[in-house]
Amino acid sequence: MAGTIDKITAIGYQRKMAHILTGEMEYECPIHGFASLGECTEKYGCDIDRDEFEVMASPIDVYDPAPSLMVPDELHLLEESVGSFDGHYETGVDTLQELVDAGQTKIIAPTATITAYEDQVYHLFLRPAERFPAPGPYLRENFYAQEQAESQRYYIGLIPHGKTHINSIIDILFYFHREVQDLMTTAMESPEDLLTGVALEGTDTSAPLNADSIDEVLQTLTLYSTSLTYLLSKKDGDRLDQSIVSQLNAYLRRDDRPPLASERMTGGTPFEKVQDILDLLDNPWQEDEDRGILQSLVDDDVLPPETQDAIMDLRDTLEASLDDATDVESDEFRVALRQADEDVREGLAWLLASRLNTITATSMISHGVDVERFNMMVFFGMPRQTAEYIQSSSRAGRSHPGLVFNVFHPIRERDLSHYHFFEKYHQFLDRLVEPVSVNRWAKNSVQRTHPGLFMSLLLNHYMYRDGSGKLFFGDSAEDFLAEVDDQELEDLITRMYGGDEVPEEFGHDAEELTNLSISQIQLDDQQWTSNRLPRGAMRSLRDVDEQLPIRSEYKYRDLLETLENQS
Ligand SMILES: [Zn+2]
Repeated sequence: MAGTIDKITAIGYQRKMAHILTGEMEYECPIHGFASLGECTEKYGCDIDRDEFEVMASPIDVYDPAPSLMVPDELHLLEESVGSFDGHYETGVDTLQELVDAGQTKIIAPTATITAYEDQVYHLFLRPAERFPAPGPYLRENFYAQEQAESQRYYIGLIPHGKTHINSIIDILFYFHREVQDLMTTAMESPEDLLTGVALEGTDTSAPLNADSIDEVLQTLTLYSTSLTYLLSKKDGDRLDQSIVSQLNAYLRRDDRPPLASERMTGGTPFEKVQDILDLLDNPWQEDEDRGILQSLVDDDVLPPETQDAIMDLRDTLEASLDDATDVESDEFRVALRQADEDVREGLAWLLASRLNTITATSMISHGVDVERFNMMVFFGMPRQTAEYIQSSSRAGRSHPGLVFNVFHPIRERDLSHYHFFEKYHQFLDRLVEPVSVNRWAKNSVQRTHPGLFMSLLLNHYMYRDGSGKLFFGDSAEDFLAEVDDQELEDLITRMYGGDEVPEEFGHDAEELTNLSISQIQLDDQQWTSNRLPRGAMRSLRDVDEQLPIRSEYKYRDLLETLENQS
């Protein structure tokens, strides 16, 4: 069975959860499967007559009914309020299982944050935890990873001096893209000099390149032609995108260079758009796209219009040479390059450097975006959490060495500290991951989960005991509560929250809520039991706000008044 974690709240409003969790089933309908309380689960859709159901359905005897195993995937996401609420429901389910000796569901939970996992597991399940795989005896070697001699990712920390934060980022992007453009141009103009390292005189390295042909060098360069700026907020992205257009592109145009075209990837970007960007990054050799780029370079006066076709021809030769499947003589591109006009050679360099060259993105790229071409990344300030920093910066350098520039905020205290301890911080990065923050005893959490746990006792436990009646009807619940020992209910609710582990004040609140619920159900005269409670059972673990009534209305005034009364 697969479902979202929110479905656990169904114990508070769906009596049939007891079929799955505690095996409260008596018969099997030949058409619709397991059933209980004398009726089919499809009571309005079943061909078997209601009165004959108990005779027609086969009786069953359940054995060891609790699900054997639960796998809550991405356990680190069960944090903060969702974590507190889920924790109450988890131990609530445990109690329902214990009450009827159904067995206990075992839990195996994959997580991305192993730091202080025992604490998180305590708050969610009130159970001890074992870590698997356990860390090995060696310092930098474990089940998943070991250290290699070659670096896969370089982290560079910068703090702006006499410059604003955003201007420093614009400068980095400018120098980076100018360098990519220059290397592309050098590869076209003097391929031999680049291959032998002569063209790199004056830089850190002037050794011959580790490449057999200029085609290969260009292939590698295209893996570095896209820069990715990681945003901490959407607002930073708006400012940066604007500065790229107004400022950075002005620098590039001043040098007669092609401008950058920036794309945005955030939680608000439509799915199709994100998919298009990822497809293009995955395979940048798209003829229509390239023709479009050439046309805009012509429109920008970077290229003379008559060169377009010749540039496309040279581009096709390069593509064929890079495509292993076709049988092209290895020096075909080199020959074509030598015969091409200077304008055409430069045009191809500009084209390769202009493909989807700069992307601004939020944390949405941190999960599941696996792109070979994100090898240059700029952080617009330090992310709030180490886990987020590790997740997002590991987008860079997935197959080729990656560069990560962390441009700290010049006056933010926390960023300054990160700059100060930059090397130490990166040395111990994986050990500095913050634990998942969750507290099952959070002060007001009991108010939210109590109605659901209280209703689950009625619907998924007592209703299956002899003679309790249909406890979802207010009147039946009223009669039932008149008979039942209040103390027993109080104790069971406390047990659902964690029994002896429950802190005094929290337990006191739970008891008060239980007594209030018992008296409300007896005083009120609503048809449904749940409507008699001061607050309804949660329908989802994110269901934290009071619901606004929604009705069709022509007058907006009523709507505003409703909103005002709520605040
Ligand atoms: Zn049926």
